[in-house]
Amino acid sequence: MSGNLQSTSDAVTCKRLYGQAATGSCGIVIGKARTLLAGASPVPELYINAKDVAEEQSRLTDALALTVREVTKEIESLTHTGHHEVAAIMEAHKLMLEDEEFIVGIRRLIREQKMNAEWAIHQHLNDLRKAFSDVRDDYLKERFQDIWHIGQRLLQKFHRNTPTMMSEEQAASCTSAILVTHDISPAHVIMIWRMGAAGIIVEQGGVNAHSMIVARGIGLPMLMGVNLHGCTIRDGDDIILDAEQCCFIVHPQTSDLLEYRRFMSALGVVAEDLGHFANRPSCSKDGHRMALMANIEFSEELVAVHRCGADGIGLFRTEFMFLRDSQPPDEERQYQQYRDIVEQMHGRPCTFRLLDIGGDKPAMFQLLTGMETEENPALGLRGIRLLLANEDVLRTQLRALLRCSTHGRMQIMIPMVNQPEEVTAVRQYMKQCADELGINNELPLGCMIETPAAALIADELAQVSDFFSIGSNDLIQYTLAADRESVHCRDYYNASHPAIYRLIEMTVQAARQAGIPVAVCGELAGNTEWTETFLNFGVDALSMATHRILAVRNLLSRLRYVPVQV
Ligand code: PEP
Ligand code: MG
Repeated sequence: MSGNLQSTSDAVTCKRLYGQAATGSCGIVIGKARTLLAGASPVPELYINAKDVAEEQSRLTDALALTVREVTKEIESLTHTGHHEVAAIMEAHKLMLEDEEFIVGIRRLIREQKMNAEWAIHQHLNDLRKAFSDVRDDYLKERFQDIWHIGQRLLQKFHRNTPTMMSEEQAASCTSAILVTHDISPAHVIMIWRMGAAGIIVEQGGVNAHSMIVARGIGLPMLMGVNLHGCTIRDGDDIILDAEQCCFIVHPQTSDLLEYRRFMSALGVVAEDLGHFANRPSCSKDGHRMALMANIEFSEELVAVHRCGADGIGLFRTEFMFLRDSQPPDEERQYQQYRDIVEQMHGRPCTFRLLDIGGDKPAMFQLLTGMETEENPALGLRGIRLLLANEDVLRTQLRALLRCSTHGRMQIMIPMVNQPEEVTAVRQYMKQCADELGINNELPLGCMIETPAAALIADELAQVSDFFSIGSNDLIQYTLAADRESVHCRDYYNASHPAIYRLIEMTVQAARQAGIPVAVCGELAGNTEWTETFLNFGVDALSMATHRILAVRNLLSRLRYVPVQV
């Protein structure tokens, strides 16, 4: 379910508007809005043939039906949670979607001007905007905002899976600002962070969407799963973005600002206190060690890794380095990048995960498969499946990693493993590559346990693996059939489901019996509600977003190790 909005003064003008999000990264920021909503992304403008008019009209009908359904659900949920003012705004939006005059104008453009549906909607909105700009009445002018919003929402139905496009120039305009947008890709999160954005508010997205993982990794305050349809946020509006409590306030009052400044300084004190744990060992009160490692995607994150005294890198998501590349990077470029990371870790261990492309990480997917996307990408050609189908890509990466092996402590991890043959195949490729390079020491090779199948046959996988790392993000998604990216599945994507505990237990048990180390590297690793369970299971390492390490180490230092018989 997406977040809700609550206006405490004037519902129409959206003064002092409080909103909630489905999920947040970390931190709080007070800043000015820079909006880049779906309407700002280019609308395809195509002339259609006369014979295609009927089809275009039916695309419009489908989009309208979808939007009405969505709005109806939101109204129900808003009413249920007592947000009657916002529900009333949404009711007005719904009426507009059913308003013959509004629809007839769009249909006429399709029929008479032979415009495609998206262009016709956009054109009609622009015509209305002109008509409303001559109106003197402020109230009526405000009404146009409603029409505009509902039109944008309708337009989104035509490019539902396309994150809002963003040019370098648009990204640069976010410097010091809080970007408000419909959807955002991980690459764009990085782009605008590098440009100095203060934070991001995104309409789409679920708990473990990759854009959110990236934001957590770099410590950028971000909210996802925010329902913005009942409000208008304009460029320059003041916003408090609170990613700690998953909420935001547009047009904050003086009392909000005072309260938040106090809260931010309290958080600063807590952070300072936690800072003492940066130099402490990662062990329980009675001295049982559980390494606390970092999950990272970019070399820029190493500063934070050192600041919190991480025991190593437990998950380096290599595909993120290449998100913006159209070609797979060559061996030399990869070697330089991996070497840079390993050297900067000064002997602490680094686990590099082989490219996990496909599914929700589309980098280079089209180039490698010739397909733009798949019907069901999460269940498609991704991770190790894609690598085994693209032997050259796999060999190039293995060679680059093997060449780094003399520069530090490293190991290699395989994503999305389901069967032992996948591990043995990679091992054979690694051996061949090592022979070609004249390297005697192959690197330890482990697999991620992130599907129910992998957990269920963990005993067999343990026979061919040097270590395990439990990827709870995907394990939850695949076990519970709940999309990790979906706002609507938030309540179903539930780590507390007993099936998750059991699969983790089985994995740890298999690792113990085979005598190989087992780590957890999904977001659960940084969740303090699970620290005691992982400790008592005898998990060897937890790898998490760097900003979670000190809090987990603090808790760990207060716990006693009570081994659980798994
Ligand atoms: C996981 O699935 O838990 C994991 C760590 O991998 P990713 O989040 O990159 O899919
Ligand atoms: Mg995964």
